[in-house]
Amino acid sequence: MQTASFPVKAARTSGSRITLADGRELVDGVAAWWTACHGYSHPHIHEALVRQAGQMPHVMFGGMVHEPAIRLAARLAAMLPDDLERVFFTDSGSVAMEVAIKMAVQYHINRGTTGRTKILSFRGGYHGDTLGMMSICDPEEGMHSLFAGVLPEQVLADLPVDADSLARLEALLVERGDSIAAMVTEPLVQGAGGMLFHDPEVLRQLRNLCDRHGILLILDEIFTGFGRTGTMFACEQAGIVPDIVALSKALTGGTMALAATVARRGVFEAFLSDSAGHALMHGPTFMANPLACAVANASLDLFESEPRLEQVAAISAQLARELEPCRALSGVKDVRVLGAIGVVELETLDNPDALRRAFVERGVWIRPFRNIVYLTPAFTITPEELTRLTTAIVDVLREGA
Ligand code: PLP
Repeated sequence: MQTASFPVKAARTSGSRITLADGRELVDGVAAWWTACHGYSHPHIHEALVRQAGQMPHVMFGGMVHEPAIRLAARLAAMLPDDLERVFFTDSGSVAMEVAIKMAVQYHINRGTTGRTKILSFRGGYHGDTLGMMSICDPEEGMHSLFAGVLPEQVLADLPVDADSLARLEALLVERGDSIAAMVTEPLVQGAGGMLFHDPEVLRQLRNLCDRHGILLILDEIFTGFGRTGTMFACEQAGIVPDIVALSKALTGGTMALAATVARRGVFEAFLSDSAGHALMHGPTFMANPLACAVANASLDLFESEPRLEQVAAISAQLARELEPCRALSGVKDVRVLGAIGVVELETLDNPDALRRAFVERGVWIRPFRNIVYLTPAFTITPEELTRLTTAIVDVLREGA
């Protein structure tokens, strides 16, 4: 058996398999950081990419639009709840969230409200790695703690998961609510913060507090969007509509870098004016790249033509069944499943690389982080492939890496 040293070199992908340059094949439990929901190299996506490459791989998106973007924007608006219908395309999740924050702050300015310059975010939250996003992530986030000195002052709260935390959040808003432009959270799952799940009721509380205090609610559905939690968008499970939502990752089925920030009609209307300075000033060079938009359209086709949400429900049931034995293992703190996310939380994880190596040696690609071993497979994974992943987790945790 070969010992894995990182990084391993990937050579080819297909379905839920990654073939390494040395010929070894791994069953993928991560779906390329939660993006490849249809599996790798889906022929429908491949065809759309090649067709678009032959026609128009890129064109600027200032003073010019194109069919793949127009079509994609209309489809996203039709899928998202209520009047979330105004779409701004960028090229990464972090930048989609930057745009959401700029929109929220400028929304208040354009309406003549001054002083709402702060963003309230939550412990456990992760929204990206740019300077702006680091300033709204959980400061305990290991990747960002070095930069504490250069980031703006943060308004950070606990998610209102019980009466105490709700009362604390309400008190904070009574004191500082009129300085806050927007509240930001990942709905139902804080991903990089440790795959922490919360009840849909938390989102209803946030919606209610935002309405009472004139604050915009921004949902970061970059991880949760496109079926991962069992519904197309996580906010559907709470029956609430955010003012702005950020999407990326599975938007293109994991094939191209693309993101979208989608605003409700009322937010958009605050930017409609003849006076200079009302427009949203943001224009990344590759915004609405036609290749990425064509691929995203192909990904949405697959959600229509193939039973993705049924597949997520089946994966969910299988994960719950097959990860359950971990609960009895020593060092395991919790086992939880939501949609196509399966999590085994350990008391501690001192050497994630040793676990990662043990997984590669068993022919699976699983990337433990913090004290978490998790699976976020493609929705097209076969039951046999999923069993290989869950069996590897049970065996590696039982034996200790
Ligand atoms: N928001 C959430 C919830 C994420 O999970 C991520 C990435 O993992 C981001 C934002 C940042 O996205 P990107 O890495 O594309 O900038």
